[in-house]
Amino acid sequence: MANLFIGGTWRAGSSGAEREVVNPFDQSVVAKVDEATAEDVAAAVAAAREAFDAGPWPRTPAGERGALLDRVADLLLRDREEIARLETRDTGKTLGESRQDVDDVVAVFRYYADLADKDPGRLVDAGRADVVSRVVYEPVGVCSLITPWNYPLLQVCWKVAPALAAGNTIVVKPSEVTPLTTVKLVELLEEAGAPAGVVNLVLGDGRVVGAAMVEDPRVDMVSFTGGVATGQWILRAAAETVKKVTVELGGKNPNIVFADVDFDTAVDHALTAVFVHSGQVCSAGARLIVQDEIHDRFVAALAERAERIRLGNGMDEGTESGPLVSAQHRDAIERYVATGLEEGARLVAGGRRPEEPELAGGFFYRPTVLADCRRDMRVVQEESFGPVLTVERFGTEEEAIALGNDTDYGLAGAVWTADPARAERVARALRHGTIWINDYHPYLPQAEWGGFGRSGNGRELGPSGLAEYREAKHIWNNTAPRPAGWFTA
Ligand code: NAD
Repeated sequence: MANLFIGGTWRAGSSGAEREVVNPFDQSVVAKVDEATAEDVAAAVAAAREAFDAGPWPRTPAGERGALLDRVADLLLRDREEIARLETRDTGKTLGESRQDVDDVVAVFRYYADLADKDPGRLVDAGRADVVSRVVYEPVGVCSLITPWNYPLLQVCWKVAPALAAGNTIVVKPSEVTPLTTVKLVELLEEAGAPAGVVNLVLGDGRVVGAAMVEDPRVDMVSFTGGVATGQWILRAAAETVKKVTVELGGKNPNIVFADVDFDTAVDHALTAVFVHSGQVCSAGARLIVQDEIHDRFVAALAERAERIRLGNGMDEGTESGPLVSAQHRDAIERYVATGLEEGARLVAGGRRPEEPELAGGFFYRPTVLADCRRDMRVVQEESFGPVLTVERFGTEEEAIALGNDTDYGLAGAVWTADPARAERVARALRHGTIWINDYHPYLPQAEWGGFGRSGNGRELGPSGLAEYREAKHIWNNTAPRPAGWFTA
């Protein structure tokens, strides 16, 4: 079956080119998908434009749009296991994580299904009895939605659900590395009854297909999740046609542990914070900052636990961590660790590929802990996006806050302490979009997600996630017009 979806029809790319999708566990070819060209993007944008300007969707009652999202949630649940297996074969992550991702996006679709008709606008007091003044919300228009490879299903649903709830039409492009669950999602949107042209799917290279989605003047908005360099390029390119742009970018997220915590619980969560999905998580707690009194013991316990993490095929229930997504990404992680060692970090766990012969075909790298790190090191400041933890130490609360804020990023962070007042103080002082107190990683569809600083602009999830896809319009209705009386001659 062809994999591009344009104007309600599945079709191949106009060049006939295909791309192999590889399983990072054993490099087997999971699928071959059609590669779009810039002309295919132009066709997809034209279909979305037509559906927006002349189609029923933007004018469909918001409650009906919400009902469609609810049907998508039902279909995602129906096909949960199939989707989870597809995601694991495509990304390498464990089946448990992939199932969790499906459950999470079901909740996101349900949330926006419910929110779609809850806030139709507001009356504004014009101060005159003969004037009705109100603010209404309208869809932005044609939205290009571009996503990364690490959480393919999750990231695309965070965009698709609010964009459709608000009445937009969309052109979607997943990462060329992991496109399969996005193709499946678009099949489900079609099955749920999305009118032709409302949802369009293009696949392929970011610099060709993605760039065309940003540059096309008929596109009103770009919502992007990915790396900082790509985000910067998109912001510059979108300026040409003054598009609305939201960017969710990387992170180098502090995980701050005070000495008064329950030691074993904090060690356990420090592992989960950074090594889930082999560290390929924008909000990974990759920068551990531990108070002096427990620092040495904490590092030793962490290193010992990190060495015991079971790597393997994400399809096997006993696997705790899968491979990295590609050979190039593993090469980049190896260079990153070498940089840390040159800068003076001390390797206390990992720092190598696994020895097991059954893992030799995959892009594996052992969970790695670099101790004796300092704030000015590149490995402390730069995102690795892999299974590498840097550890710094601190003495006072002020030092902990200063270290936690000493980053150009600002996506997420955590503070661990038994002192509730201190927890609140530190949480408020940290300049990051999400702060966990005595926890790491949970998020909620109802709560905003996004970054301060170079971690991006705009928000996903929560009411703000819907607001990004809406324009506010003020309608002033003078019910008793009289001459203005301004010019009297
Ligand atoms: P990437 O920037 O390389 O690619 C992301 C997407 O952009 C892909 O679909 C790619 O094809 C496309 N793209 C590339 N060049 C483009 C261009 N010139 N114009 C338009 N589109 C283009 O990122 P990646 O390697 O896929 O993902 C990893 C990054 O994503 C990490 O930095 C990670 O922190 C970030 N991320 C952030 C969040 C968040 O919520 N803030 C979530 C997940 C991932």
